[in-house]
Amino acid sequence: MQDQPKIPQATAKRLPLYYRFLKNLHASGKQRVSSAELSEAVKVDSATIRRDFSYFGALGKKGYGYNVHYLITFFRKTLDQDELTKVALIGVGNLGTAFLHYNFLKNNNTKIEMAFDVSNEKVGSEIGDVPVYHMDELERFLEVEDIQVAILTVPAPVAQSITDRLVSSDIKGILNFTPARLNVPSHIRVHHIDLAVELQTLVYFLKHYGAAEEIQ
Ligand code: ATP
Repeated sequence: MQDQPKIPQATAKRLPLYYRFLKNLHASGKQRVSSAELSEAVKVDSATIRRDFSYFGALGKKGYGYNVHYLITFFRKTLDQDELTKVALIGVGNLGTAFLHYNFLKNNNTKIEMAFDVSNEKVGSEIGDVPVYHMDELERFLEVEDIQVAILTVPAPVAQSITDRLVSSDIKGILNFTPARLNVPSHIRVHHIDLAVELQTLVYFLKHYGAAEEIQ
């Protein structure tokens, strides 16, 4: 934000951590939080947290703590200002097509810049303003556009071989929507979202525990 003093880099690095935790707190209806609670949750010592938060103009009150809503509003604005993270989507099937239309832009500083597929019907088209390229072009385009994150919505049997190509292309993170469990080196982060399993789990818990109990 223009009217905010510059935040030290070390503090800026901790923002996403704070933000994620505060969003969860907010979602669970909590309106305030102490630096001790935050410290415990995000594993940053409370003196550092107090100093970090003083840069945001958030001065915790003794016996009250910090206003969760204020902090979240601040983080949202500040983080949105960050550089856009460029994303590639691989596999323009039903799910992939839906993501291209959705494109995550509304609330996040991420954007799907390009998509890849092997199907002649899809390659060369644009879906939701996102161009679809052939897989043969993968490495070249990822490098040229400095893509950092890939979303995988391909059939499971091809997921690992595509992942290996992504790893060689210096991708930093993969959001895996295929049921395949991916092997990657430790410097690559993979988040696995198996929608079928999530749905089955929900149904299972509804049957056996009902709605009230929290599922960990
Ligand atoms: P979804 O699972 O997303 O609902 P779908 O049922 O429409 O998709 P799938 O067979 O799962 O289709 O394939 C998803 C997409 O992945 C298709 O567009 C397909 O052309 C593409 N695809 C298949 N093999 C590869 C590959 N090796 N590389 C890239 N894309 C591929």
